[in-house]
Amino acid sequence: MAAIQLGQAALRELDTCVHCGLCLPACPTYRELGQEPDSPRGRIYLARALFEGRLDPRGPALEHLDLCLGCLACETACPSGVHYGVILEDVRAATEAVRPRSVLVRWLRHLLLRWLLPSPGRLALAARLLRIGRALRLDALAPRHLRELGRAAPPVPPRPSRALLPAELPPPAPAAPLRVGLLAGCVQDVLLGETNLSTARVLGLYGCTVVNPPGQVCCGALAAHAGDRETARELARRNIEAFEGVDYVVVNAAGCGAHMKKYGHLLADDPEWAVRAEAFSRRVRDFSELLAALAAEGRGPELPGVAAGDGARPAVAYQDACHLAHGQGIRTQPRALLGQVCEVRNLADEACCGSAGFYNLVQPEMATAARDRKVEQIRATGARTVVTGNAGCLLQLRAGVRAAGLDVEVVHIADYLARRYDELGAAARPAGAGGGAQVAGAAARRE
Ligand code: SF4
Ligand code: SF4
Repeated sequence: MAAIQLGQAALRELDTCVHCGLCLPACPTYRELGQEPDSPRGRIYLARALFEGRLDPRGPALEHLDLCLGCLACETACPSGVHYGVILEDVRAATEAVRPRSVLVRWLRHLLLRWLLPSPGRLALAARLLRIGRALRLDALAPRHLRELGRAAPPVPPRPSRALLPAELPPPAPAAPLRVGLLAGCVQDVLLGETNLSTARVLGLYGCTVVNPPGQVCCGALAAHAGDRETARELARRNIEAFEGVDYVVVNAAGCGAHMKKYGHLLADDPEWAVRAEAFSRRVRDFSELLAALAAEGRGPELPGVAAGDGARPAVAYQDACHLAHGQGIRTQPRALLGQVCEVRNLADEACCGSAGFYNLVQPEMATAARDRKVEQIRATGARTVVTGNAGCLLQLRAGVRAAGLDVEVVHIADYLARRYDELGAAARPAGAGGGAQVAGAAARRE
């Protein structure tokens, strides 16, 4: 039986696991199915057996790995610090060539991962076709879970957000210079571009010049998670090139940010790119991560309503996106930002909402079960608004609250902050107000 090849990093993680099982209760698929092969520890056993040639990669082992959401809740729970995501990504890349896939599925994967997502022009064309399809009500022909997701999405905007943003957008008031590149993303750019425009506007209120580099492309997370590492590496190189010269690369999608922070790892064996990739990853910041750091230094908008004591603070439930909470350890920053302008309520736990990249498209049953559990937690908070930091979670939760008949809006944190700052009449701080010394200083010393 042919063994699969795994990289040194994945083998180190396999060796780090002591098989204690403390990650099992955190795993949504184990909680749902109650079987060891559908737990993190079980999947680690399977990965080792595949590597040692004791299991056939064309057998049922891969089904258990495919059921994994990649949510990384097991990483948070693991006392030994096993980076399970490294193992999962390596196994998916190593098994891709031997997977029993039909010619049609292989062709569709190729079309999506190598032809459509890497090309902003083709994505814009696809968005136009989607608009036409919706106008003709062709979505009624799709399976139920796809219809639910499609109806949760807002109308397709006529133009991608990258076409609406200038190459450089200076802040509304002069401030200590901080140039940040904004990742527009792939699907988000054409379907949820309003969030990118809100992100740019809010960054301006925190004294940032927002740079929209013309050469930027999809971050490559979807390709990496689907086992197409070569496409992911090529997209990483193009983004590293495109974002040269900015102090930070700001990302408002949790999965993209977590992936871009690992470009250094992705290109570690490429002598031409390894150093640049590592330096790039150190400059990547989630939107809320950078804003919270700037706010801690006294930057950010003046909020007269809140400073005077805003008696009518709306209640908002905050949903942790997995790749923010587990992937990047970002939990307090979004809550601190929201806490300036509303009352923040927590959900019962950090379990995945079931979106997980393409997961809700290819594993609809498990994804719907995760989604519905999350919707019940939302209902329990009593809040009429849910805020999250990831486009995938946003659509998944919107579909969920609609299916449950809840009168709850689901909003990206950038859109929510932009709206609240407008409502409160927030003004940009003039030059000299606030600090900014540390962040701006760090930026000045950039690699
Ligand atoms: S991944 Fe961590 S928590 Fe899970 S079994 Fe291995 S060592 Fe234990
Ligand atoms: S990534 Fe999520 S679904 Fe996969 S094994 Fe870990 S906890 Fe379970």
